[in-house]
Amino acid sequence: MEGYHSPQVAVSVRLNTNESPFPPPPGFVEEWLDELRATPLHRYPDRSATRLREALGAHLGQPAERVFAANGSNEVLQTLLLTYGGPGRRVLLFEPSYLLHAHIARICGTEVVTCSRSADFTLDADAAAQAVAAHDPDVVIVCSPNNPTGLVEPRATVEAILDAAPRALGIVDEAYAEFSDWSALELVRDDRPLVVTRTYSKVFSLAAIRLGFCVAPPSIIVDLEKVALPYRLSVPTQVAGTLALRRQTDVRSRLDLLVRERDRVAGAMRAMGGIEVFPSGANFILFRPARGGRPVWDALLEQGVLVRDFSSMPLLAECLRVTIGTEDENGAFLAALEEAR
Ligand SMILES: *Cc1c(COP(=O)(O)O)cnc(C)c1O
Repeated sequence: MEGYHSPQVAVSVRLNTNESPFPPPPGFVEEWLDELRATPLHRYPDRSATRLREALGAHLGQPAERVFAANGSNEVLQTLLLTYGGPGRRVLLFEPSYLLHAHIARICGTEVVTCSRSADFTLDADAAAQAVAAHDPDVVIVCSPNNPTGLVEPRATVEAILDAAPRALGIVDEAYAEFSDWSALELVRDDRPLVVTRTYSKVFSLAAIRLGFCVAPPSIIVDLEKVALPYRLSVPTQVAGTLALRRQTDVRSRLDLLVRERDRVAGAMRAMGGIEVFPSGANFILFRPARGGRPVWDALLEQGVLVRDFSSMPLLAECLRVTIGTEDENGAFLAALEEAR
C-alpha cells in the first residue's frame, strides 16, 4: 500500500491543507494555558470527556449522548471503520473525494467499492442510489462540502443515498460544514444508522490541537467507545475544544472573510483565462490549468506558493487545489499563478 502523501514544504505561502489562515482569537491561548496550569498533570484526563461533549452538544443542539470525540476527525473515521468495517464488509465511496476515506477503510481490512461522479464532479442522485442498491454496502460515506471538489451535496441527494441503503451505516463527512447552507445533522435520528463527522481543524483554527467529533444515535456512540482507546483525548485537547466553542462570533467573522476571499480569488482566476475553475462551497478551490497540473504546481512552488497537486489522479486529471488564505497570501498566490499558468 501507499501511505498518505501530502508534502509538508517550508515555504512562505502554504495553501495546501485547507487549515484556517487565522490563529485562534485574542485571549484564547491565555485562557487555555490558565486552565492547564490548574490541571493535575499526574492524573489521567476525564475518559468520557464529559465537559467537552456537553459543550459540543449544547453548541450543536444535540444531547451529549449523541457526541463522540477523538484526535481529529480522521481518528473518528478510523474508529467508525474499525467498528463497522473490516474483513467481509464493504464500504461505498463517491469519488473523487477525500483520499483518506478509502485509505482508512482498506487499512481496517474493508473492501472498497466506488461510484464515480460526473465530469463536473456533481453526483446524480438516481445514479448514486442505484450504486448503493447494486453494491449493497455495509458503510456508505458521503463528503459534503466535498473535498477536493468543493461541491455541497444537496440534501435530496444525501437522503436518496441513505434511503437506498437502510441497512448500511451512513457517514456524512462535514469537515467544512460551517460553509454549507445545510447540515446532515438535521437527519440524525435515534432509529437511523447515520453519523455526521466534524472537525476543529478548519474554521475553528485549531488544526494543531487534533480534535474531531461525530454526532450519531447513542447506540452507535456506545459501540464507538468500546472500540476507541480509553483516555485518548488529552487534557489540553479537551480544554481547547471546550473553550473554542465560546467564541462563535470570531468563527462567524472568519467564515465571512474566507467566503469573500474565496469568491474574489475564484473570480480573479476565471478572469486570467486558460484555467478551469470549479465552483466551491468551502475554503478551497479546485482548478485545472490548460498548461497542465504538474508544471503549474512546480512553477508556483518556485515562487514560494505551495498548493495541493492532484494532477496524476485519473479522476482529477491535471487538477490542483488551493486553500483560501489571508488576503496577502491569496494575493501572492494570484500573482504567482499569473506567471505560472
Ligand atoms: C480536513 C479534513 C478532515 C479533517 O481531519 P482532522 O483529522 O479532523 O484534521 C476530515 N475530512 C475531510 C474531508 C477533510 O478535508
